[in-house]
Amino acid sequence: MKWYQYETESLARKLAVNIREGLSENQAEERLSKFGPNVLEEGSATNWLILFFRQFQDFMVLVLLAATLISGLLGEYVDAIAIMAIVFINGVLGFIQEQKAEKSLSKLKELSAPQASVLRNGEWRKVPSSELVVGDVVKISSGDRVSADLRLVDVKSLEMEESSLTGESLPVAKNAQELVDENVEIGDQLNMAFSGTLVTRGSGVGVVVGTGMDTAMGQIASMLVSTERVQTPLERKLAELGKILIITALLLTAFVVVLGVVQGHPLYNMFLAGVSLAVAAIPEGLPAIVTVALSLGVQRMIKKRAIVRKLSAVETLGCASVICSDKTGTMTENQMTVKQAFTLSDRFHVSGEGYDVDGSYYDGEHKVNPMEVPLMRDMLTYGALCNHSTLRQKDNQYYIDGDPTEGALLVAARKAGIAEKDLSSYTVIHEIPFDSDRKRMSMVIEDDQRNRFVITKGAPDVLLPRVKYVRTDNGQTPIKPKDEKKIENALYEMADGALRTIAICMKPLKPTDSLKDFDLEKDLVFVGLTGMIDPPRKEVKQAIRECKEAGIKTVMITGDHAKTARAIALDLNLMTEDGLVLEGNQLSTMSQTELEDIIDDVYVFARVTPEHKLRIVKAFQKQGHVVAMTGDGVNDAPAIKASDIGVAMGRSGTDVAKESSSLILLDDNFATIKSAIHEGRNIYENIRKFIRYLLASNVGEILVMLFAMLLALPLPLVPVQILWVNLVTDGLPAMALGLDKSEGNVMQRAPRNPKEGIFSRGLGFKIISRGFMIGIVTLIAFMLAYQGDPEHLRYGQTVAFTTLVMAQLIHVFDCRSDRSVFARNPFSNLYLVGAVISSVLLLMVVIYYQPLQDVFHTMNLGFRDWIFILALSAIPTVLFGYTKK
Ligand code: ATP
Repeated sequence: MKWYQYETESLARKLAVNIREGLSENQAEERLSKFGPNVLEEGSATNWLILFFRQFQDFMVLVLLAATLISGLLGEYVDAIAIMAIVFINGVLGFIQEQKAEKSLSKLKELSAPQASVLRNGEWRKVPSSELVVGDVVKISSGDRVSADLRLVDVKSLEMEESSLTGESLPVAKNAQELVDENVEIGDQLNMAFSGTLVTRGSGVGVVVGTGMDTAMGQIASMLVSTERVQTPLERKLAELGKILIITALLLTAFVVVLGVVQGHPLYNMFLAGVSLAVAAIPEGLPAIVTVALSLGVQRMIKKRAIVRKLSAVETLGCASVICSDKTGTMTENQMTVKQAFTLSDRFHVSGEGYDVDGSYYDGEHKVNPMEVPLMRDMLTYGALCNHSTLRQKDNQYYIDGDPTEGALLVAARKAGIAEKDLSSYTVIHEIPFDSDRKRMSMVIEDDQRNRFVITKGAPDVLLPRVKYVRTDNGQTPIKPKDEKKIENALYEMADGALRTIAICMKPLKPTDSLKDFDLEKDLVFVGLTGMIDPPRKEVKQAIRECKEAGIKTVMITGDHAKTARAIALDLNLMTEDGLVLEGNQLSTMSQTELEDIIDDVYVFARVTPEHKLRIVKAFQKQGHVVAMTGDGVNDAPAIKASDIGVAMGRSGTDVAKESSSLILLDDNFATIKSAIHEGRNIYENIRKFIRYLLASNVGEILVMLFAMLLALPLPLVPVQILWVNLVTDGLPAMALGLDKSEGNVMQRAPRNPKEGIFSRGLGFKIISRGFMIGIVTLIAFMLAYQGDPEHLRYGQTVAFTTLVMAQLIHVFDCRSDRSVFARNPFSNLYLVGAVISSVLLLMVVIYYQPLQDVFHTMNLGFRDWIFILALSAIPTVLFGYTKK
């Protein structure tokens, strides 16, 4: 028998599960260890040995190895072994770096791994999808990506998009009815929900019948190709830059070698020096350091509760110039409390905070009992009936399981004295679920006398056009203009007070009446309005201010009423009194060009549907902005995808929204977007810092050799020394610059232009000027020490080597700021201080440790030498360090 043929009872028996209780934790654990986790097998990971040897694939490294081999054959054992050792250590470091990047990337994947809502021991809980086992009872709802094959046992308007399996892109309506036929195509198995497919509407409960490779998806081999990570724009730019640098370095090196040979240096010596120089000058480690810096930044962002799904987002974040943010839950707490209850006969205020059920109703100053006011009692009852939330209590604190708006209605009912048991005599016959497009939901309810009625609740301006009658204390009458006026006034007053408004309507049904969606939601009877407060999150005001200082505009997008949205926007200082609020229906009648023309003046988009969001993103982009757009629902996905930085909510977001996003906010908080942008800007600046450091060092190294050749001097640096500089002086401090803290002013500048090149804002000049000076002082040091006397060559080389290293180690502090070298406390980056101290210690070992002196062609230096070297090394930084250029 196939799964779709079982009826619920036999299915439960077959899978040994009680569908109302779910599996027990023990059962689930047992099954998990027996059948394995619910994951698709990925292609085998690359062997680490292969990864290790990949480090040595670089063309120049191979040439160097060949050159070393030759020098070994020629009897230069010490040089050969030293160079081999350095190349090997370099390879190991590169390997470790890559492993680290790889690891943090896979950690990221884990963090954004999907979760499933599963019934265990009679309680719904969230578990990682990989822990689902056959027999688990799983709940799915709009926006979820199904994580195992399910046989559905209950559905509510459930529709699924199964194109990944069937190729059919139109959603399929599902049901829980068993099928009789033996051979039913996947697309026709209407009581099944398949792993990897999407819930586009409604909700359902199903029992897991297949996990991991044992699902319909698992059988499609082509889905298993693991996706390769794409390079970020910066990594790509650097790779291109790398090519140019390689060619330049090779040309210069060739020039140095030819010059050297012409001047009578032995060919073999020049060849080895040239190759070493090329290896040192080519920043082959740069892409790896950039990746490490990016992924370390990503880890810092996790601590600030933002998960970056795409590494490239880290770069784009620094360019963001507009943040379009949902209001509810992102700027506000999403903790709703009903403050006002209105019917055409009464208007009560409600006391109490949050979801606490302590609170009373007041008519002006007088405490009232709404249970004694039949119309008010009915409205509160309807609000609690047309509802999916549950009010729960833990450690004496009340909280809501479900939608906060509905939770607020439950609490309001409870404050009036309507408890859950009072509602148990009603049965739900049918439901049209809420979504942000429709801004309303309806339920057909039957009471214990078998009387049927529909309750529709939703945004007042959406429901009022569907209202034909009103209820007052005197019964039901057709709606009159004066009723409309009264409702409207109440509505505006609530909205001006920043309250979110929900209208509650109903309509009695005859048993024969149609249950078609269209028929149900027309000719409604207006019962009342509720106004609920959703306080702004405390940290948002400050975050909006910081964004403003950083040249980033914050735009509020909400499904709420324009007046409510405006009141909150003013409260948050998101705009001033004259800021523009645009409503969804205005937006609908505008052309895209009209929208583009005014969009820079708009701060709030109210009563919008998710479809509008896409137009908003496009209009801002057309105006040259880099847009971050938040979203949580299925329909938000296109806008999230189209934006430059798609932001999804970690808690309330659907799988679809998360999959389309590049950034996930673990706490759904607007302030977290700001922190991520801050971090993004900082990472980019740090990358610029070490590019500056590394390239200036390389320029210095090449130039000192070039000038020496031009002046017909002997080699100021021997190959091992050049390689040592490349390994120690370049490597450690560059890494430390990648970890630098942000300069105080990163959030006080305008966003970076995304088209800006790496060398813009004077970086190119800084690299050349500092590099030039490092080369010059090294050469001067060499000449003064060598003095044209071959006896002094080793001394001169030791002094040149030490000067080069020290000049770079001093220059590294200048790289920390675009301003003067004294703009920052050198001790505020202890990694850097550590890196510099270790480099100096290693330098001492190479200079003073006798066995290494022979390897590195060095000799002891005296106190006066050091004074002389330090004075020279400080020149490039002192000369330029004050200037802003
Ligand atoms: P934001 O865009 O700021 O996050 P939102 O997404 O919460 O706001 P929606 O959830 O789309 O906005 O709600 C739009 C309107 O729909 C609300 O103003 C309210 O009137 C109505 N509404 C919200 N939730 C429900 C619900 N559960 N049942 C009925 N109506 C609702």
